[in-house]
Amino acid sequence: MGSGPRACIVARAHPCETHASWVMRGVLDFLLGNDPEAQSCLSQVAWLLVPMLNPDGVAAGRTRTNLDSVDLNRHHHDDTAAETKALKSALQAEGEAGELLAFVDIHSHSKRRGIFAIANGNSADRLVSLIADRTPFLDLPGTSRTEARPKDVGVGRMAAAFQGYKFSLTIESSLGARHTADEHLLLQDLASAGKAICLAIVDLLCPEANPARTISAAIVGTVASASSMASVTSVSASPLALGPRSEIEAEALSARTA
Ligand SMILES: [Zn+2]
Repeated sequence: MGSGPRACIVARAHPCETHASWVMRGVLDFLLGNDPEAQSCLSQVAWLLVPMLNPDGVAAGRTRTNLDSVDLNRHHHDDTAAETKALKSALQAEGEAGELLAFVDIHSHSKRRGIFAIANGNSADRLVSLIADRTPFLDLPGTSRTEARPKDVGVGRMAAAFQGYKFSLTIESSLGARHTADEHLLLQDLASAGKAICLAIVDLLCPEANPARTISAAIVGTVASASSMASVTSVSASPLALGPRSEIEAEALSARTA
């Protein structure tokens, strides 16, 4: 869908992570809707959207696996599962069709609060910061920059980076923890994050789009070794750093009180 550099957004590798579908719902409603910004997104980026990677697991009520008891998010790199094998082939075709720009794998989390990103080291910092500029619901200081361990080669964001995606990350949203001291995430919050992800991916194409907030600035002094893929950073207990209100933020916040 669309044309230009390639972006792929995937959800529900893990069947029980229902919040992922609400973020994806925001992606789909935005890109397929009448928002004038969606036309701009479609004209600048070619989108491969996989709303539910593990439909059998969802139908069967599995938590993390498909019907063969395979955790898809550990097998994006091989042919163990039909679902990830098919996705891998699709991503290879994307690479033959154009520049691989961004891969976003949407998940949900059972313990940490809010919406946050997990990235391969600091390789996706610019995209994470651009998403944070587009939504107040991304916990930018809570970004995890995980080390590139051999055992994680089958994780979606790792495999996508290996296939050539310039920016590759996992987005998590809390299934139960409060977003702020007294508020849980609402469905419209999750959907607005989906729209924000799309806009941020397109922002990557604009060289002058420098994020107002950056991860390194937000956690300066706590990640001295976070300058390479060999580092591990997880700042999960810091308060949300809210930046300037964007149109999306105003939209989402007004919906919260509607
Ligand atoms: Zn998951």
